[in-house]
Amino acid sequence: MRELRYEERRPDVIGGSIERRVVEISWLDGHRSEYGFEYLRWQCPCALCQGEGGAPGALTFAAELTPEQAALQDMQPVGNYGMSLIWADGHSTGIYTWESLRRLCPCQECQARFGAGSRQGP
Ligand SMILES: [Zn+2]
Ligand SMILES: [Zn+2]
Repeated sequence: MRELRYEERRPDVIGGSIERRVVEISWLDGHRSEYGFEYLRWQCPCALCQGEGGAPGALTFAAELTPEQAALQDMQPVGNYGMSLIWADGHSTGIYTWESLRRLCPCQECQARFGAGSRQGP
């Protein structure tokens, strides 16, 4: 896997819109990423959602998200390496590192460069 440069995995500005249901991150290299709430929840990296040691997680076989699972309520910084997302169903154990978020950027340019393993992808 290609190493990311420092500017590529360091957020500059983090924002978002509840109305548009997106989280927006501007990176130090000038790139801008926009993530839909559903997309982020599907990518939740925690063991509860994705499973662990071969055991399936809550989202492993899910066909769709409940409205609560896909409603982002808050974002909390975690150290200086990422953030956790707090969802309306009370879930908050997933830590999204900055590097993983940059790799998850759904834009064509990043998908071509990093080839993120998106569950929603074709
Ligand atoms: Zn999770
Ligand atoms: Zn991108």
